[in-house]
Amino acid sequence: MVPVKNLKLSGLNGDVRKRTVITVGDVKIGEDFVVIAGPCSVESEEQTLETARRVKAAGANMLRGGAFKPRTSPYSFQGLGMKGLKILEKAKKETGLPIVTEVTDPRDVSWVCEYADVLQIGTRNMQNYSLLQEVGKARKPALLKRGMYSTLSEWLNCAEYILAGGNEEVILCERGIRTFETYTRNTLDLSIVPSVKEVSHLPVIVDPSHGTGRLSVIEPMSLAAVAAGADGILIEVHHNPSEAICDKDQAMPPDTFEGLMKKLRTLRSCMDEINRSNGRGTMELSS
Ligand code: PEP
Ligand code: MN
Repeated sequence: MVPVKNLKLSGLNGDVRKRTVITVGDVKIGEDFVVIAGPCSVESEEQTLETARRVKAAGANMLRGGAFKPRTSPYSFQGLGMKGLKILEKAKKETGLPIVTEVTDPRDVSWVCEYADVLQIGTRNMQNYSLLQEVGKARKPALLKRGMYSTLSEWLNCAEYILAGGNEEVILCERGIRTFETYTRNTLDLSIVPSVKEVSHLPVIVDPSHGTGRLSVIEPMSLAAVAAGADGILIEVHHNPSEAICDKDQAMPPDTFEGLMKKLRTLRSCMDEINRSNGRGTMELSS
């Protein structure tokens, strides 16, 4: 085991009770259990608005959707860019859900901030230091995905770049790492959740959609994330998965998402019971 060192800002540094709480809309991330849901990419106004309505009705706290898609192939759909952000703005106006959207280029950070409530940094950009520095200057929370080949130490050091710029609001997101397994798209490393909590005060959420890439595995891993002590989950939902342009195999239909939300609530209250008996307080599933 390798100790995680020199985490001046992201580390607990002896203060084991310290916890960062980040308020977005009416959710306190790090205190409440947060559910971020929505399509992989913003494809059209109809698709985003319909999906937003459905996830809102099921109890999601924030809407996700990519307007800039960092794709493996340059020939794949790259996102709608500015047009996508305007669609997200419309969805926020109608549903009231805060927006989580990815920023891929340091030059875009300042203007994407006008649309995003949370700036997502994707797995492929976790170590894009100029992007991290630019997000460090922003006054919007950052959702920093774990690099697909990154250790806990490397991940937290990237969070450190954002914090060092003066942006104190960093949410970590485990999204699966590359292993020899091929049945799932990635290997969701849930052991990282209690590990983060041992060394850092930052909230950590789990993305079982990219972490597994298989619809049938997303629900059990979402529940497992709750049991592991995650501060929330991020789920890809599409109103019509068979037509999703991006990440079709992991797109959850709204009815399934609604069922998952009910199970999450039940499990959250069990976890609250366990935490109370351990003297660790409660964590509410909002709405
Ligand atoms: C996403 O959440 O839209 C995404 C591209 O995820 P990741 O960076 O984890 O692959
Ligand atoms: Mn996706």
